Amino acid sequence: MQLGRLSRLKLAALPTPLEEAPSLSAYLGGPRIMIKRDDITGLAFGGSKVRKAEYLMGEAVDRGCDVVVTVGETQSNHARVTAAAARRLGLDAVLVLRGDDRSERQGNLLLDVVFGAEIRLVNTDDEFVLTGVVEDVVRELRRGGRNPYIIPRGGASAVGTAAFVNAGLELLDQLNGRGIRADAIVHATVSGGTQAGLYAATKVTQSGIRVIGVSAGASRDVSTGRVLNLTQELVELLGLDWRPHPDDIVVTDAYAGEPAGEPAADCLDAIRLVARTEGILLDPLYTGRAMAGLIDMVRRGQFAPEQTVVFWHTGGQPTLFAYAGWLAEG
Ligand SMILES: *Cc1c(COP(=O)(O)O)cnc(C)c1O
Repeated sequence: MQLGRLSRLKLAALPTPLEEAPSLSAYLGGPRIMIKRDDITGLAFGGSKVRKAEYLMGEAVDRGCDVVVTVGETQSNHARVTAAAARRLGLDAVLVLRGDDRSERQGNLLLDVVFGAEIRLVNTDDEFVLTGVVEDVVRELRRGGRNPYIIPRGGASAVGTAAFVNAGLELLDQLNGRGIRADAIVHATVSGGTQAGLYAATKVTQSGIRVIGVSAGASRDVSTGRVLNLTQELVELLGLDWRPHPDDIVVTDAYAGEPAGEPAADCLDAIRLVARTEGILLDPLYTGRAMAGLIDMVRRGQFAPEQTVVFWHTGGQPTLFAYAGWLAEG
């Protein structure tokens, strides 16, 4: 594996803690639940995107880029982390976000403003329109003599995904060091990079750990396709002597919530339950949905009490404040 040959800048406080969640486990009467605390990766309210930023920014700096351009939803965690990482490294950031002038400056969007990122709000449902704006921005920057580095939605390039191979190996080290055998990892999946990296890491090491992605939006087929594509790109990038197989990629879309952006009751319940049992905050768009999935899987008996499940906490807490209206009633 050629992970060490990729450029990487230190932005995250690693390894993130691997903590027991005994009260949550007891409340559910289910398996041993551990939480991988990527919500506290350290930079600008943390989250898993800081891991990706280490590799993406490594490549940006290698290429002599002076500005990064990325794209996402109004409440994109990836956009917030990109803006913070760029500032830390002395670069500018342009964020192309789906939204309009009425989008409240709260949560991640507020933080993007605080970081002084240039924000282009685009009011469209069409992904091609957003991509078109990114291309325009890049052209403008180049015309002005700048050297932009373009990061796809969610940091989902092979280079960004490599960070999660490393993250998977980090978890295996922690488990081995404590003599714990985990049966599954459960996490929120969107662009697929987190799952592709964890899938590759757990397979290549023959760890026997199942990686279960809980989609926070897309259908199972779309999500599985994203994970498979990114894993294939990763295999090439890292020169892995292994081939991913679609049947190995486990994604559920049963907790994705509908319509997009509105947290469902089970997601809000999951946020309250983890806050009240463990004192840990989840978010209403990703980790709340993933935890709703884990809770339901436990209730359906999909994990035996003697099993160990690692919930990968990917972060996202700034979004809590943008969704205050959903949570304020208790
Ligand atoms: C981006 C993100 C995810 C999903 O990660 P992908 O690699 O895009 O699948 C999950 N949770 C949070 C909080 C995120 O910001």
